[in-house]
Amino acid sequence: MADDDTERLLHDVAERASLYLASLDQRPVAPTPAAVEALAELAGPVPPIGMGSADVIAQLDRIGGPATMASAGPRYFGFVTGGSLPAALAANWLAGAWDQNSFSSVSSPLGAALTRIAVEWLVDLLGLPAGTGGALVTGATMANFTALAAARRAVLKTAGWDVDADGLAGAPRLTVVVGAEAHAALFKALGMLGLGRNNVTTVPADDEGRMRADRLPEFDGPTILCLQAGNVNSGAFDPAAELIPAARRQGVWVHVDGAFGLWAAVAPGRRSLTAGFEQADSWALDAHKWLNVPYDSGAALVRNPQGLADALSINAAYIMPGADADPIDFSPESSQRMRGVEIWAAIKALGRAGIADLVVRNCHQASRLAAGLEAAGIEVLNEVVLNQVLASFGPGDATERAIAALQASGVCWCGGTSWRGRPAMRISVSSWATQDKDIDVSLAEMIRVKSMV
Ligand SMILES: *Cc1c(COP(=O)(O)O)cnc(C)c1O
Repeated sequence: MADDDTERLLHDVAERASLYLASLDQRPVAPTPAAVEALAELAGPVPPIGMGSADVIAQLDRIGGPATMASAGPRYFGFVTGGSLPAALAANWLAGAWDQNSFSSVSSPLGAALTRIAVEWLVDLLGLPAGTGGALVTGATMANFTALAAARRAVLKTAGWDVDADGLAGAPRLTVVVGAEAHAALFKALGMLGLGRNNVTTVPADDEGRMRADRLPEFDGPTILCLQAGNVNSGAFDPAAELIPAARRQGVWVHVDGAFGLWAAVAPGRRSLTAGFEQADSWALDAHKWLNVPYDSGAALVRNPQGLADALSINAAYIMPGADADPIDFSPESSQRMRGVEIWAAIKALGRAGIADLVVRNCHQASRLAAGLEAAGIEVLNEVVLNQVLASFGPGDATERAIAALQASGVCWCGGTSWRGRPAMRISVSSWATQDKDIDVSLAEMIRVKSMV
């Protein structure tokens, strides 16, 4: 029961959080070096005795807040980073108070229901086949892992091998086909599954990082083909409509890493980018990127969810099965937080139209930025089809110096990458909070930085 102290604490933290969010537009996007140095104050030996909760939160806010990256704000373009929609953030707080263990309808009827609804809504929004099911997991890395666990089981089962019971030692050889521009997280997932990070057949990519359909190998034996919807640098999509039907006809399991790119399916004007991906067997998706929910939110979606349950369900006498299929049957975790709550709240708050608008707005903002860069003589290295822009500031280390200067300016924040052998600034426009004026302010700063390098 919330006593007075708890109530005061929660009101206090709400006020602190509101002040923080209101400050984001004004403060430097990256924390100052002094703020980062002050984090040492959080360390030290384990406190021998505790301090009051109000003091704990006051210290955390005083030291932690200034050391945060303003990635919840409007001018953070690093990695692929959404902010938190107000409804999603508020749902996250309420869920924190509820503290549900969402592994089953016995442990939490609400958690199990929200998981089921969130998965159904994601499947519907992305235009995936009816009956597709899955799990809510921590992010796209675990979504790839989870979906590929179902893939590994299915293709080896067809070859007469029960990998979950008997392991990989002595199993028929399984071939994993990936694009040359596959995301690093996919290789990590393959490593965790015992399939080997390097034990892959690599298909060359074209100039935008798309898998080249004309270079696909002959399929032979148990095979998983991993496609990508949304290259993390260029935003490009593998040619799914060309690749998937033939592969599936040959018994290949087709998996899609669509962490942020699959969201293009929600926007009518961008949907053609995702054409054909719905024919795959499984999909990895992030919600904490373009759906703009708090972190620790992704989804592994599988056309035949029973295959996922075959790979991941567990049996223990004390885990009483619920009436419906339970989250625990489809996810690598047993105990789990109520990830469905923010996905539910975000979709409810935006609706299909609002999500489409968010995607389209960010894509337009990326195009606007790219056009402004080119007009200023800053080279854009990719075809801007989505929300990703790659910029070169000139030969030598000009781009690295531009990135450092931009980050130090505090106006906005972009990271770096290497694109087709050249250093590039990566600009990812993925936040609901970004307005056109933020694009213009950031563009002006990039142009100023260009004149200095
Ligand atoms: C971000 C991303 C990942 C990794 O996702 P996490 O949510 O960080 O685990 C994997 N694949 C692609 C294409 C991505 O953009």
